[in-house]
Amino acid sequence: MTPAIEVHHLSYRYPDGREALRTISFTVAEGECVGLIGPNGAGKSTLLLHLNGVLPEKPTGAVRVFGQTDLAAMRRDVGLLFQDPDDQLFCPTVLEDVAFGPQQLGVPEKPATEALAQVGLAGFEKRSPHHLSHGEKRRVCLAGVLACQPRVLALDEPTSGLDPRGRREFKALLHKVRATKLIASHDLDLIAEFCSRVLLLDRGELVADGVAWEVLGDVTLMVSHGLERPHWLQHRHPH
Ligand code: ADP
Ligand code: MG
Repeated sequence: MTPAIEVHHLSYRYPDGREALRTISFTVAEGECVGLIGPNGAGKSTLLLHLNGVLPEKPTGAVRVFGQTDLAAMRRDVGLLFQDPDDQLFCPTVLEDVAFGPQQLGVPEKPATEALAQVGLAGFEKRSPHHLSHGEKRRVCLAGVLACQPRVLALDEPTSGLDPRGRREFKALLHKVRATKLIASHDLDLIAEFCSRVLLLDRGELVADGVAWEVLGDVTLMVSHGLERPHWLQHRHPH
């Protein structure tokens, strides 16, 4: 079967010359939920941005989404939740922002009001996105992504800045979304709850690709790449 995501020898340099990704290769099967971890500056966001091609320079190597390489097709299939919600919101009202993606892509539209209700923001239609709290902005972004009904969800630090209730509600929602998922996060509880497999990036290189609890539980690996083994894994796997 054609993989949902295929990344082959992908390298990327920003216009200022900074090398952000170095010969990254991996595939994600349809229906998989894969975690993307690594210290700040590892290249996680840059990698996710390649899935819908919003970068200033051309990469070397290849990225395919369900076998497709043309940007328009990739953008139809991938719903990308940006790390910073302010990069994603630009319409005067919440409703317009949520409806923008499906209109732009020409994909079958899930009504924007329905997507808003799905993220717990019913009644927010006429609000200005810029006057919302950080957590509310994130939800509007997620509603915009879900309104496009993507086959692949690429989430960049989706729980950062959420309070405990917001995080719990986000996870409950995420459990209900049927899509192939690639989740970049420092929230290792989230990664462990959703992802059976984890990719570890450091300085633009893919340094591990394996079973989630094995990667997360490898204290030497985690510490040598600026991370920590989650404390609850230390209890479960004392060695
Ligand atoms: P992460 O999401 O893992 O924190 P990023 O993908 O944001 O990492 O960044 C990877 C590398 O690329 C870092 O060294 C970062 O400083 C650099 N970088 C990110 N965005 C830009 C940009 N717009 N211009 C130049 N360098 C950038
Ligand atoms: Mg990032």
